[in-house]
Amino acid sequence: MSRLDLHLHSTHSDGSLSPADVVGLAGKAGVTALAITDHDIMTGIPDAIATAQPLGIEVIPGVEISSQHGESEVHILGYFVDWHDVAFNARLGTLRESRHRRNPLIIDRLQGLGIDITYEEVCAMAGTDAVGRPHIARILMDKRVVTSAKDAFDRFLAQGRPAYVPRELPNPIEAIQWIKAAKGLAVLAHPTWVKTSEGTLTDLVRQLKATGLDGVEVHYSTHTARQTREYLSLAKQVDLLVTGGSDFHGVTKPDIEVGIGKGTLHVPDTLLPKLKDAAARL
Ligand SMILES: [Zn+2]
Ligand SMILES: [Zn+2]
Repeated sequence: MSRLDLHLHSTHSDGSLSPADVVGLAGKAGVTALAITDHDIMTGIPDAIATAQPLGIEVIPGVEISSQHGESEVHILGYFVDWHDVAFNARLGTLRESRHRRNPLIIDRLQGLGIDITYEEVCAMAGTDAVGRPHIARILMDKRVVTSAKDAFDRFLAQGRPAYVPRELPNPIEAIQWIKAAKGLAVLAHPTWVKTSEGTLTDLVRQLKATGLDGVEVHYSTHTARQTREYLSLAKQVDLLVTGGSDFHGVTKPDIEVGIGKGTLHVPDTLLPKLKDAAARL
């Protein structure tokens, strides 16, 4: 059964497998087209393309940008982005710098809680410029301070927990505009995680569409069948494209597999021509 997976992370951000390994797993899962959507970085794309080509798998250049909307983080995915675009890469660089400012503060807090951890060991393990909380979580797992990445977030790293440090983030409109300026399609990631304090999700999606949003990630590993139906009808109602992906990270989300998520994910490959048409019109 041919399928897509348009939401995958690699070692270039906080995933635990290289782009080549992720592509290999996608091939085994029957994925015909995929997007590596690392956080704030697009350096994994060339490796993914080189591995995918001989397997007959298509690679769509992707990226994921975190933004802040009120109390909620809103993630915006970019597809078919011109990953050589100088201005866009400079913006991604600024986002990565804000992580670099935040990470040592998180480590300070963990040390203050009596945990033996240094930023040097986190950076050494990450081996990428896009160091983030999942890397810190992995060190905490290695040191057996926590039992899983989820445990690390629940006890220390998530908003409201003792080692949480806020990060300066763009607003969703900025993230969308950056992606559009780099000739990409902008898509609202995993709507299940969006918390709206004022108005409904539909209001927010309409507002974002007016500023350039192209699509919604309707198919997602943790969406229930009912949520998938709801988001599908939202996409129809607001006239947005439909996308989907697993949000595979490897060891930090061990229950999520490439292509099939928790086993029930199926992103139909019939969505791809519509995305390509829209990208061609940009
Ligand atoms: Zn996300
Ligand atoms: Zn993601």
